[in-house]
Formats: sequence, structure tokens, C-alpha cells
Amino acid sequence: MELIKHLQEELGISVILITHDLGIIADMAHEVMIMYAGKVMETAGTRSIYYSPHHPYTSALLNSLPQSGQEGQRLPSIAGQPPSLINPPSGCPFHPRCAFTMPKCRTGSPPLRLVDTSVHRSACWLPADLTGSSAETDMRRHAASAAEGSSAPVAVADSPVTDPGKDEL
Ligand code: SF4
Repeated sequence: MELIKHLQEELGISVILITHDLGIIADMAHEVMIMYAGKVMETAGTRSIYYSPHHPYTSALLNSLPQSGQEGQRLPSIAGQPPSLINPPSGCPFHPRCAFTMPKCRTGSPPLRLVDTSVHRSACWLPADLTGSSAETDMRRHAASAAEGSSAPVAVADSPVTDPGKDEL
């Protein structure tokens, strides 16, 4: 990574990193694009992605990172399984695993639209001002989801891991 950084600075080139390692992203990237099932879910500057995520998939990824003080505990994972790319889910591709799924998520593919800044875009039907990873923001997401007629949401961050080898982070 140091060599890539050095070459990037010396040659003034752009570098595209494709990785699941959010630690490397935090250290290297200026802009981040979160993808799921081959589609862009969220794109923003690195600080916005880490501190003000809008898309539930981004939030779930961040929730799955190890935190200090959690030694000996299982890491949270995202409920369910990665989707089939041959027969992907209808509507929002994340809807079978999302804690905030609304009826329209199953039928309509959300556009990548601006949320809290001029370069922060998210492909999610939740209101644009619902950014962040706090419990309070999640409560507001649940309220917005319920107002749209969602059924009882499932917990994403606390779902037990039944087969860690098959879970996608
Ligand atoms: S709230 Fe709906 S549109 Fe947003 S990520 Fe969840 S399923 Fe997709």
C-alpha cells in the first residue's frame, strides 16, 4: 500500500482500489463507492461514508467492523445471504437483507440521488436526511420505514452468524 501511495503521489495518477477491507479504504481513499450485487449503493467522500452513511448496506458494513472494547465478542454480520447475480432480487437488490425494507423497495429500483452533500449519493428510498450510524438515526429509519407500510423490521447488526464463511461483509 505504501508503494501504491508513493507512486500515486510521485506520478500524479489516480488509483482505483477494489476491496472489502474498509481499513485500507479509510487509509488510502479520497472517494468511496459502495457496491452491492454489481450496483452502486452509495458514493461520497471518505469522511462522509464513514461518519454519515446513508445507505443501510453501508451502515451494516461499518457496523461489522471490529471496535475497541469488543474483544472476545462475535462481530455483527449482515443477515441473510449474498444475492444471486443470475436472478437478482427485484427492486432494491439489498431489500431481502435490509432492516428497513418498505413495500416499494421490493418493486422499484431506487435511483442514485444526492443526500447530505453535493457529492454524496445514495441509492435508497429512505429520506435523504437520514445519514449517520447512531442508534437514534436507526430509530428514525425504522420510523420512516414503518410510515411507508413496512412490516416488522429485522435487526441487521445483531443477527447471529450461522455460517460465517458464507456471510458477505
Ligand atoms: S430501505 Fe429499501 S431502498 Fe433502502 S436499502 Fe433498504 S431495501 Fe434498499
